[in-house]
Amino acid sequence: MPVPAPDSSSPDDPHMLAEVELTIAAGVRTLRFSRELEQRYQRDTLKQRLRFITTVGIGGALVYNLFLLSDWLTLNDKFAWVAAGRLCLITPMFIALLYFGQRLTQRWAVEVVAATGTVVSSLMPLVVMIYSDSPYRLHYQLGMLLIMVYCTMIQQLPTRFASVAMLCMLVIQLATTYLADFADIRIWQANALLFVSTAALLLMGSYFLERGSRLSYLFALRGRLLQVQLMALARTDALTQLFNRRYQGEVMNSIWAAAANAPASVAVILLDIDHFKAYNDNYGHLQGDACLKQVSRAVQRTAQAHGALAFRFGGEEILVVQVDADAAQARELAEAFRGAVASLGVPHPVLGEGARVTISLGIAAAMAPRVTANALIASADSALYDAKRAGRDCLRCARPEAVHG
Ligand code: GH3
Ligand code: MG
Ligand code: MG
Repeated sequence: MPVPAPDSSSPDDPHMLAEVELTIAAGVRTLRFSRELEQRYQRDTLKQRLRFITTVGIGGALVYNLFLLSDWLTLNDKFAWVAAGRLCLITPMFIALLYFGQRLTQRWAVEVVAATGTVVSSLMPLVVMIYSDSPYRLHYQLGMLLIMVYCTMIQQLPTRFASVAMLCMLVIQLATTYLADFADIRIWQANALLFVSTAALLLMGSYFLERGSRLSYLFALRGRLLQVQLMALARTDALTQLFNRRYQGEVMNSIWAAAANAPASVAVILLDIDHFKAYNDNYGHLQGDACLKQVSRAVQRTAQAHGALAFRFGGEEILVVQVDADAAQARELAEAFRGAVASLGVPHPVLGEGARVTISLGIAAAMAPRVTANALIASADSALYDAKRAGRDCLRCARPEAVHG
């Protein structure tokens, strides 16, 4: 049974939180984040963006084909061509893009595919229009405005991609209407002005849409990072950075809850700094704190290396919990703690010249849930007491028959 580990938070999270705060404060005006944040944004939003593009793509394809009605009414002489284009060329292309688009793993690729599909679908009816003699051509080509709205406001392409797509559509629109040779160049000019200003307004909308969605991503990310940080704070002891008593309770409860279904051997080690009061009296409490931090760090590192969790039990006492470990393994780990603290070589001159800070350890191991967590800790506590009586700087293990309750 694995030891319940705290929620994993990426080590770069504090730095990332600061980056997010700064970016929010700057207001995302350039629609661009720093490299690291941008990569995270692209990664985090990829799936959601794919789902969105697929949904609006299906809706868009349906409306696109609904325009067969408009083709029939206003481009009647070339209806067969434009209908074939919609049904046999553009619609299968849409379906293929929607299908293969699902495999894309980069957001930029999703945007390129979406933009390409839209631009190509705008090209076909206008090319057919060039060859039409319908008197309603001027009205017909206004359908391009809807595709421009779809591209910027419905698909919500990022402004950079939308700008390129709109430029392509403008070129297509201006060229095809020019070639279609409307009766009067003034009509073409007025029409061109209508399209250019529509494109400008839509790109303005696109900018604010993207800025809003980037900002709301940042707020959501900030919330997530703060939550991770808050949870880490809630389970960490401020001085030693070990897990605190509250988290110890949660971990013990979850070990015992899991053991109710699958009994497991649990070992606990209670360790205590020797003659710490004298150390404080000699050096003062601040130096005492520094010593306690050093010892805690050494214990934490050693515990981590052995897949165990270390909690500040109280004062200068640390509780270490190891799941799926028997007394022999716990004894080995306890020796590793003693060695780690000894190798710190923290002087303790009150105890004599050359004396160093040491720890004493009490060990208890038993099967959960047969023995309760409190009984196991109480046994380790009394073993620790034995170690103190035996002269300190040593470890003692509770006899198995003494561990019950
Ligand atoms: P023993 O070898 O029997 O454990 O002796 P001891 O002096 O370590 O034990 P005792 O229980 O008499 O004293 C523990 C001391 O630990 C008293 C207290 O001032 C100190 N202590 C507890 N928590 C802290 C802390 O957070 N910072 C500092 N500086 N000292 C602490
Ligand atoms: Mg002590
Ligand atoms: Mg103590």
